[in-house]
Amino acid sequence: MKRIAIIGGGLSGLSAAYELARNEPQIVFRLFEASPRLGGIVETIREDGFVIECGPDSWVTEKPWARELAVELGLEAEIIPSNDNHRRTYLLQQGRLVAMPDSMRMMVPTNLDAIAESPFFSEEARLTYRREPERAAELRASALKDDEDESIASFVRRHFGDEVVRTIAGPLLAGVFGGDVESLSVRAVMPAFVKMEREHGSLVKAVQSLAGQNEHSVFTSLRSGLGTLIDRMAAALPQEHIRVEEDVIAVTHRSEGWRIRTRNAEKIFDAVIVATPVDVTRRLLRGIDERFDSLLAMDASSAIVVALAFLPEQARTLSIPHGFGYLVPQTDSVEESAQLLACTFVDQKFPHRAPEGGILLRGFFGGAAATSLMHESDEALSALTIERLSEVLGTLPAPRHTIVRRWPWSLPQYAVGHPARMAKLEALTVSFPGLYLAGNAYYGVGLPDMVRMGRDAARRAAQKTAPQG
Ligand SMILES: Cc1cc2nc3c(=O)[nH]c(=O)nc-3n(C[C@H](O)[C@H](O)[C@H](O)COP(=O)(O)OP(=O)(O)OC[C@H]3O[C@@H](n4cnc5c(N)ncnc54)[C@H](O)[C@@H]3O)c2cc1C
Repeated sequence: MKRIAIIGGGLSGLSAAYELARNEPQIVFRLFEASPRLGGIVETIREDGFVIECGPDSWVTEKPWARELAVELGLEAEIIPSNDNHRRTYLLQQGRLVAMPDSMRMMVPTNLDAIAESPFFSEEARLTYRREPERAAELRASALKDDEDESIASFVRRHFGDEVVRTIAGPLLAGVFGGDVESLSVRAVMPAFVKMEREHGSLVKAVQSLAGQNEHSVFTSLRSGLGTLIDRMAAALPQEHIRVEEDVIAVTHRSEGWRIRTRNAEKIFDAVIVATPVDVTRRLLRGIDERFDSLLAMDASSAIVVALAFLPEQARTLSIPHGFGYLVPQTDSVEESAQLLACTFVDQKFPHRAPEGGILLRGFFGGAAATSLMHESDEALSALTIERLSEVLGTLPAPRHTIVRRWPWSLPQYAVGHPARMAKLEALTVSFPGLYLAGNAYYGVGLPDMVRMGRDAARRAAQKTAPQG
């Protein structure tokens, strides 16, 4: 009987376990999870008709792996698109919400006329946008070569100038990655744009050539919340293979296999899939080879989520603008240590997330603010969020439900040079037979990538450990 250990029961580790349980019944596995619950950053709370996501609220529709998994788990009827007719995002500028122009693919407009009419940009930025298609040949000639990388800021600046970096690229990327565009790798974080530059030179021309091809909604989720994905996978696993509240404290490689030590026991496995947050993975693997220590030394940003749910009778006095929510540019103002990064108008982004007439808002702190607020009480964080939101949306009443979640060091920052570092990490990992890595530090932070990497690691581990003959 071949045995595989999976360390970490977030979406990536759980996907690995599910793949083994479903498709490799000859393998005996054990899933070790430090906390009392499976799912890691994915967690849904349901109260009074509200579906409150404590971490991610959806996945990017373009990437198929989370949807495929949901269908496999019998959840097809649960799959819902984002309400894209409400897909307006605002930016907070001098205390006011200013709508971003319609028909943008991140910072690239598909319709230059929408830019011309938008008060969002200065005349100079509008001109830079209009001229970008004319510079296609020049931009193609200077496109990144295969072995080159640069920061997102530098990439966007080459196409659209500094204002677009500050007003759109910075806030958007901070909102998704909690990161700084001046240091994030364009090749790792926005590979589709790198490809567009190589093929078309102009990004505007590239996104225009795609118009009409992607008619689906931008985001996808599950009606009852993403926690259902976790619950269904957990229910499909043989319970005797799952160990919650059992954190792995050491991993060693011996001639007889992989020795996994928890506080209570030590066991040998033929293979190990390490699906823990990157700082834990680094700690577990540095003793095996010191190169893991440097290759896994990555910065990560923290997040705090504060969800506020208002019953229909409370919501009557509120007037929330139409849209998915707003982003707050992170400036060096005195407010920085207590400034929100973003707020989602959840009941408008997805249907069925609040009872009819109810309002659900999610405020996010990220970056320096999340780090400095991490040890504040739930009460203090909720009061601060209500104060910040009231400045923008008008006075908010005391919500019926408030959920606060802290996700320290949860989003690894893919710095310039990340793809080259990953190639070295992969070469090092395969030099240890039976060792596999999955999680958000390597090839994408989104949920579909977690499913893909987890299942792929499980398949490879099962193949390599399959009995010969
Ligand atoms: C606030 C927030 C919002 C997000 N929103 C979105 C979104 O809308 N869409 C999207 O696609 N992505 C989103 N993401 C990113 C996505 O949620 C994460 O990248 C993904 O959930 C990470 O999954 P994981 O399994 O790699 O890690 P985790 O979920 O961190 O799981 C790792 C698990 O390992 C366990 N563990 C740690 N140490 C040990 C140990 N020693 N032994 C055993 N177990 C251990 C932990 O308890 C945890 O359960 C968001 C992230 C955050 C923080």
